[in-house]
Amino acid sequence: MIKITIKAASIKIPIVIPKISINPDLCTGCGICGEVCPFGIPNPNNEGKYEMYEPERCTECSACKRNCPTMAIILQERKGCGCLWNARAVAKNPQNNSCCG
Ligand code: SF4
Ligand code: SF4
Repeated sequence: MIKITIKAASIKIPIVIPKISINPDLCTGCGICGEVCPFGIPNPNNEGKYEMYEPERCTECSACKRNCPTMAIILQERKGCGCLWNARAVAKNPQNNSCCG
C-alpha cells in the first residue's frame, strides 16, 4: 500500500472570480438586468433565472446591479459613475437622460 500525503498549505488552486455574477438564490428571473445592460450580458438560463454571459465584456457600469430589485448581482469592483442607477426609467424616456448617455 502506498500512502500519499498532501500538504494543504502547498497546494495552489487558481480560482477565477468573474468581475460580475448573479446569485441564483436571489434571482427571480424578472429580466430587468437584461433590459438595462447596454451590452446584453445578462441572459436567461434554462431554469428561468438570469446569468452573466461573457462577463469579461462587462464595463462595470453597474446599471444592472442598481436596478436589480433583489440585489442578486455581485459586482466585484464598481467603476461606473452611477449615472445609470435609474437606467430602466431612462430607457423608457430617453429625453430624461441627463448624464453621460
Ligand atoms: S434584475 Fe436581478 S432578479 Fe431580475 S433577472 Fe436580473 S439578477 Fe435576476
Ligand atoms: S455592470 Fe453594466 S455592462 Fe456590466 S453587466 Fe451590468 S449593465 Fe451590463
